[in-house]
Amino acid sequence: MSVTTIREQFPVLDREVKGRPLTYLDNGATSQKPLAVIEAMDAYYREHNANVHRGVHQLSEEATDLYEGARAKVAGLLGAPSPREVVFTRNVTAALNLVAQSWGAANLGPGDRILLTEMEHHANIVPWYMVAQRTGAELEFAPIDDEGRLDRAAITEALARGPKVFAFTHVSNVLGTKNPVEDLIAEAKAAGALTVVDGAQSVPKFPVDVAALGADFYGFTGHKLYGPTGIGAIWGRRELWEEIEPFEGGGSMINKVTPEKITWAAVPAKFEAGTPPIAEAAGLAAAVDWVQEVGFDFIERHERELTAYALPRLAEVPGLTIFGPETTEDREGIISFELDGVHPHDVSEILDRHGVAVRAGHHCAQILMRRLGVAATTRASFAAYNQTSEVDTLIEALHDARRIFGL
Ligand code: PLP
Repeated sequence: MSVTTIREQFPVLDREVKGRPLTYLDNGATSQKPLAVIEAMDAYYREHNANVHRGVHQLSEEATDLYEGARAKVAGLLGAPSPREVVFTRNVTAALNLVAQSWGAANLGPGDRILLTEMEHHANIVPWYMVAQRTGAELEFAPIDDEGRLDRAAITEALARGPKVFAFTHVSNVLGTKNPVEDLIAEAKAAGALTVVDGAQSVPKFPVDVAALGADFYGFTGHKLYGPTGIGAIWGRRELWEEIEPFEGGGSMINKVTPEKITWAAVPAKFEAGTPPIAEAAGLAAAVDWVQEVGFDFIERHERELTAYALPRLAEVPGLTIFGPETTEDREGIISFELDGVHPHDVSEILDRHGVAVRAGHHCAQILMRRLGVAATTRASFAAYNQTSEVDTLIEALHDARRIFGL
């Protein structure tokens, strides 16, 4: 597998932006889609389109097979013991809301603690804040150290205070930090806390085995995994899915409805009210096949090489500060930085003139921004199709930004 072969499969990478070849370094926000994904969704609408589960006609059976086949592929990708433990959602935000509302509402009460970390995306803060408001539970944020890693001693202390749940990200979408998830889960379990992992930035980057990690819930979002928007998934331990009540009601999630009593369908249907994202599931299945064909060996090694190339080159730019670990051992190719004296929005606007797409802002992580002492950062983030020449383009564009701002 070579980057050239990979790039040929992404039509959008051929386009120009502002008269320059596109340099797409905004993969932390969403990745581009290979032809295999685009064609799978197109084929679904051209050849199979029907609603799932309820029909007894050929097209409905085909759509159901595609949808349930996608669940089996996701289960395989995550190392889930059974596809029945995988619930499809709109994205990882909906997945985390589902756990917070369904599990949280039943298990949290006044004074109960919800342990989060300072590096969480709002998707793993706001749902917990909302359930805390409803139940009287309290949020606690485990701190990070100055290099952008979790402060393990502080986590041990926080776990000793007996939180009911510890929800944290596998990889930070701002700092790139890869958290020691297996150890954190083991420690949380020993302290009796439920563990919920946000896998939005990890699942696209390296193999995840939920059974080996020992988590209770582990969610991710399809559009960062080279798949379509509109679909995400969450794996959870079967006993927990059986135990908790659904968060949304409607068609497909019931067993029997009478005026007096309604009973729920079996898991996972119990948590999938209404018509699900069927074309998106076909696209996600193709994305899972695609990453498995390319292989995480390649993806992980390639992104690590890009990161190892980019970190020192960025550090050489005068006035540029990188946030997060400066090694490639426990960090992924998500690099946030600040250019002294230039607002991140201005930096990204100048980069855009060079065809370079990056993200500027608080990255839905305002608690972390406060900890870093900044309002916003600029973030470059890699995927399997990026190449070192694109890092060079980024660096040239940053020098241009310095010139324009007279630095
Ligand atoms: N969690 C992390 C760590 C993320 O990076 C993101 C996306 O930016 C999300 C959650 C939310 O993803 P989505 O908007 O697809 O639900």
